[in-house]
Amino acid sequence: MSPKVLNLILKVLDANGEAVFGPEDIAAWPEGDFEEALHTGLLEEAAPAEEVVCPGCEEACLEDVDFVHGDRPEDTRAYVICGQREDIGRVPIPLESLQRWAANKSRAESLRLDADRKRAKEPVSMRGFIEQYCRPVGPGRAQQLATRILQEARRKPVKLKLPPTTNKATGNRKKLFRPADLRAKWPQYKRVIPWLPDLK
Ligand SMILES: [Zn+2]
Repeated sequence: MSPKVLNLILKVLDANGEAVFGPEDIAAWPEGDFEEALHTGLLEEAAPAEEVVCPGCEEACLEDVDFVHGDRPEDTRAYVICGQREDIGRVPIPLESLQRWAANKSRAESLRLDADRKRAKEPVSMRGFIEQYCRPVGPGRAQQLATRILQEARRKPVKLKLPPTTNKATGNRKKLFRPADLRAKWPQYKRVIPWLPDLK
């Protein structure tokens, strides 16, 4: 699954305590993500929407959905009654548009842990490390601090030693480091540059 969709689901969960999606939400996701979310159990089919924006008028009124059940399940019909315009009355609603899927919380938490673990192994620039692994600094400040560390590392006599890089920094490519290496060295860096932020 793309990190984009997982992050979206986690963000909605964090904000609302639940994350429920309809067909219009899912239509905007990268292809295959929804199927994978279902397949892995991250999303589960939930009860259909109980209210929808009325498609019958231009007022975007939110109306309760009424169901009419026939003899067979496929005979079920849904409609809303427009509360804004008297001349509209019953507006049929396609059943597919009422389908909802909800995130399974424990599955979401375990995927969050996996993603964090994976991220912890991905090399970062000095600035990226400060942004992701330290307590928040002001806007633009992470770059200043990163530059300060890299400058300090070039000074003689050496007080601050960089860990091995995972790439060759040429042109605009930044030096990348393993987060665990920078974590281990951080207390030492803070002794040389005391105003560096604390680790999270
Ligand atoms: Zn209406």
